[in-house]
Amino acid sequence: MRPVLHPKLVNGLFDDPGLYISFLFDKKAFLFDIGDIHNLNPKELLKISHIFVSHTHMDHFIGFDHLLRLCLGRDKTLYFYGPEGFLQNLEGKLAGYSWNLVNHYTHSLVLKATEVHPDRTLSKIYPCASSFKASNPAVCRPFSGTLLNTPGLTVRSVVLDHRLACLAFCVEENFHINILKDRVEALGLSVGPWIKQFKEALYNKTSPDSNFSFYQNDRCYEFTVGYLADQISHVTAGQKICYITDVRFSPENEEKLVSLARNADHLFIEAAFLEKDASIAIKKYHLTAHEAGTIARKANVKQYTIFHHSPRYTSMQHLLEEEARKAFEGSIT
Ligand SMILES: [Zn+2]
Repeated sequence: MRPVLHPKLVNGLFDDPGLYISFLFDKKAFLFDIGDIHNLNPKELLKISHIFVSHTHMDHFIGFDHLLRLCLGRDKTLYFYGPEGFLQNLEGKLAGYSWNLVNHYTHSLVLKATEVHPDRTLSKIYPCASSFKASNPAVCRPFSGTLLNTPGLTVRSVVLDHRLACLAFCVEENFHINILKDRVEALGLSVGPWIKQFKEALYNKTSPDSNFSFYQNDRCYEFTVGYLADQISHVTAGQKICYITDVRFSPENEEKLVSLARNADHLFIEAAFLEKDASIAIKKYHLTAHEAGTIARKANVKQYTIFHHSPRYTSMQHLLEEEARKAFEGSIT
């Protein structure tokens, strides 16, 4: 299966946390946490459509200005998600600048922000053309775990305790459509932009009897969706990627995290401290490498990456990795 979701950590393992997920055949990307983002080039940054912020400690939110500056004057909508208090934090950032000249832009940026509470979300829209003043009072919707649900994928979140509310996230393809290139060629076709439209038809559960037509090499082709699906595609379970950072190891948090990350293809999880420094981890509301490995094992993930290490372990990264690996393999109980 050719993966659709391509995750990469934005920074080094001792630097600001952040995960960038780009999409195969699609000029869009998701960003999880927006700390220092200078390692992402402008082309990568401009692909970002959705930003999921675990919490607003500086190392998770200081890159907001950088992205905003790059997107000003562009015809673009950015979606933000963050925990309790997020709208106020966002408004505080926006209030830090003067916006008296932005109405001269021909294209206008719009920020759509959602604050996540355990049982509800609050959303507001901030158009650049209105100097980023919220265009409406907060819209309240019930929340039961799903932040975003498109035909192709779902993003879920849980609210955790980091001595303030902190969010962990999981992005999951609803199912994965493999396109069999040799079968495409056997029909006298080649892959092209029509593949994306065809996949969208399948994600949207279009009736198999519906017609699907497209142009290729100046010729119009027409098939039924069902015929084309039988001929050129193979459907398998979708990819699942999970992002967890800045959380204390408590039974409540552990239960929520194991459930969120269950059977993930790739779990990105913080491991700030070694177990020998567990007392500091407790005080600072962070995980140890042993705890990170334990969560990965209990969630039965296929692969995990630990990150967001305390600088006290610079040059001792291997100890963190070894501790997490032992816990993951179940050598320590
Ligand atoms: Zn934090």
